[in-house]
Amino acid sequence: MALTGMQIYKSLPRTNCKDCGLPTCMAFAMQVASKQRALTDCPHLDETAKDSLSEASAPPMRLVKIGPPENTFEFGQETVMFRHEEKFHRNCGLAVRLPSALSDAEAARRVERIKNIVFERVGKYLKIALCAVELDGIPDPVARIRLVTQKTNMPLILISENPAVLENCLKIEELKSARPLLYKADEKNIEACAELAARYSVPLVVTAAALEILADLTKQAAAKGAADLVLGFQTDNVKDTLKRITLARRAALKKNFRALGYPAIVEIKAQSAYDETVLASLFAAKYAGIIILDNLEPWEVVPVLTLIEDVYTDPQVPNMVEAKLYKIGEPDENSPVLFTTNFSLTYFSLAGEVERSKVPAFISVVETEGLGVLNAYAGDKISVEKIVKTLDDQQVKGLVKHNKLIIPGLLPFYRAEIEDTSEWKEVLIGPETAREVPGFLSRVWK
Ligand code: SF4
Repeated sequence: MALTGMQIYKSLPRTNCKDCGLPTCMAFAMQVASKQRALTDCPHLDETAKDSLSEASAPPMRLVKIGPPENTFEFGQETVMFRHEEKFHRNCGLAVRLPSALSDAEAARRVERIKNIVFERVGKYLKIALCAVELDGIPDPVARIRLVTQKTNMPLILISENPAVLENCLKIEELKSARPLLYKADEKNIEACAELAARYSVPLVVTAAALEILADLTKQAAAKGAADLVLGFQTDNVKDTLKRITLARRAALKKNFRALGYPAIVEIKAQSAYDETVLASLFAAKYAGIIILDNLEPWEVVPVLTLIEDVYTDPQVPNMVEAKLYKIGEPDENSPVLFTTNFSLTYFSLAGEVERSKVPAFISVVETEGLGVLNAYAGDKISVEKIVKTLDDQQVKGLVKHNKLIIPGLLPFYRAEIEDTSEWKEVLIGPETAREVPGFLSRVWK
């Protein structure tokens, strides 16, 4: 029977430390009881309390882990249908396929590309999360896995419908602690695949054309001891897939229907790279935990990775950087000093453009509760007094031998007051947008 908020509360540390993002342990307990939060969101729960509470208060969707301990991909344990209800807990991950038709040399090159794709966006590094290795049709699947594991320790998806092929790969030393995801079991091979997943303690994807059959299969797999299951979907019929993946999530989260209480993986089947990007974006929003793709050109994966960042960002947490003094390059006593607000996008846009200008500089970040320059001004979160105090607190004046300060072009009216009330006697009005900063610095900063 489900635990009440009070029963859960009694097992919590009751320190009201707020590390779970809620103001009190009681608020946290009430959310766990109503399945809006997972127990694991409290980082201070001891093992005994965890064990006693976890079964009764288990979240409606299982948390599944793939990959070696040092590079684990986690997904699942989601609690809401819509992000605005609370937040999505774990980013959707992209997996790129390693086709069986590739020669060993081509496969090695493709693995290198997959693991080296990195895009920086607003201070975060966006990457491909997993490598999906096709095994059927390869003369020596074990050798293919060895080749991949020599190149990368990324979490792996083993694609084969033949349990014997999967088992041969699971036996090798290189996969002992790699915890790959087995892809995939259906009505034909569910017993053998489930036994394999249970024996090797690895997660397993289960697929079926209808949700009723899928639920029966996950029950069968669970009865065999396969605990970490993933619901598999393909995009042959996009409308039907979207409907089934939504219904499965709704059944798990709203009805607590355990047989569908697992995260989802979507294998994209598309006619073109363009279609693949569109479909991947669709299922990143609803409700894939992993998406398997074929293409990995930057124009194909960057939009999807960016969308994932947007959808999975916690709407309750302002997107901000620490308000402190940042050094771009190796500034010295002759370097320019700029200030901006602590909204992440504002700071990283400015920092990126200063870096691009190749002029080493100091950027003083003023605490504005995560608001950009204009919003901070409109919301009364920034003032001359606050800017001057921030510069003083960060001891910027002692780092340079000039008294010039570059202020955002959106706040030109601050110039006279800053010059009158601080040691910054020469205030330069910078550009209104970050992308004009390199040209401004090359013109103005001599
Ligand atoms: S993190 Fe745990 S101890 Fe801290 S307030 Fe939340 S529930 Fe209480």
